[in-house]
Amino acid sequence: MDRQQQAAEARRVAADLAAQDVRNIALTWVDNAGVTRVKTVPVDRLERAAEWGVGMSPVFDVFCVDDSITTSRHAGGPVGDLRLHPDLSRVTALAAQPGWAWAPVDRYTQEGVPYPGCQRLFARAATEQAREAGLELRMAYEFEWFAGTLDATPSTTGPAYGMTRLVELSGYADAVLAALAAQRVPVEQFHPEYAAGQWELSVAPADPVTAADRAVLVRQTIRAVSATFGLQVSFAPVVVAGQVGNGGHLHLSAWTGEQNLFTGGGGPHGVTAEGESILAALLHRLPALLAIGAPSPASYLRLVPRHWAGPYQCWGRENREAGLRLVTGSEGERDTAANAELKCFDGAANPYLLAGAVTTVAAATRDAGLTLPPEVTVDPADLPEPDQPPRLPTSLPEAVAALRADDILPPAMGDLLLEAFCAVREAEQAIFADASPADVAAATRWRY
Ligand code: GLU
Ligand code: MG
Repeated sequence: MDRQQQAAEARRVAADLAAQDVRNIALTWVDNAGVTRVKTVPVDRLERAAEWGVGMSPVFDVFCVDDSITTSRHAGGPVGDLRLHPDLSRVTALAAQPGWAWAPVDRYTQEGVPYPGCQRLFARAATEQAREAGLELRMAYEFEWFAGTLDATPSTTGPAYGMTRLVELSGYADAVLAALAAQRVPVEQFHPEYAAGQWELSVAPADPVTAADRAVLVRQTIRAVSATFGLQVSFAPVVVAGQVGNGGHLHLSAWTGEQNLFTGGGGPHGVTAEGESILAALLHRLPALLAIGAPSPASYLRLVPRHWAGPYQCWGRENREAGLRLVTGSEGERDTAANAELKCFDGAANPYLLAGAVTTVAAATRDAGLTLPPEVTVDPADLPEPDQPPRLPTSLPEAVAALRADDILPPAMGDLLLEAFCAVREAEQAIFADASPADVAAATRWRY
């Protein structure tokens, strides 16, 4: 980190923000519980923040979803300090929060060394390593959310995907899209989803760190717009136990130069040999990835058959009950459109950790020559039980055990990050051990 260069750039950015009447900057990071936390500085302190970082206790690595604090082998307790360094290239004036801008941070030690528990630096390192091996990942999270009142009454009464819903909340929908457009977020689609009061928005793919940054920016923007309409929003895996939940599906494609590895080859539906190897590895490791992508006890209330949540460890072209849905795109656009959707993930995930983990697996397995098992072309729940593909873990402890047993992810994460992450999982499992599904939903509903 070149402190002087950072300071010079921050002066330029701060002047630009001041000219837009921005007075304060929200500096966010996402903790291991999947909660976005924040410190803020006035615009005229951005220069100092960029040069020296903003102080923050490392204890946040072991914060749980209910703000209780656990400990891990390396993290916990009141002692220590980390420096939050804003990524100046991401500073964005917030359209729905007049006077405010936002930037994500990387976490460094007071000695200016990258902090090994920093999830964003983990995603950055994974992206860099893949790039050095000639592999580029392009990713986009999909956002599903519930908008309603604090007692979980939905904001609309119209039918699923209904135009009625859009009419009822036309101004709200337009305000969400206008705010994102003002912040230069490339929205691709927006619609009312299936569950009562549920909406969905998708954005264009980007490199893994950008995709994760966008996940934070998009969600907080939706939250801010919703607040101005008196609406409470939830990106939690389940809002009401027993109903269809909110997914946080991750779309990805893998590229070598101009070649999308998920099309134009001789494998199933045209995937290349390298693309197939990546997909086979991701499918094989979905149980381990699930600990990161579906990290809450609430995640396992969502991840059940016939909810389009992808609860099976199988793949299929356009199969929305498969953990891995292959999207080929239409004939003529496949070179850019082909991608894979990891459907089992949800909005409790730390988007940096998940993007970094998927990138790590892809880079480690592109050249491994792995092949996909047979495709599942039906709803797995319709098959006679002996013919059904395996279910993904049905509980958080099962997924955590798979993560710990994995041979790629733990060494890539490193001990500090892995142990802090798993400590939070284990603590949250204990917090909700005796809770009913309704209680789990109520306790996590407004946390993500
Ligand atoms: N809401 C579903 C989920 O929990 C996804 C519905 C869809 O296919 O978009 O993942
Ligand atoms: Mg959806």
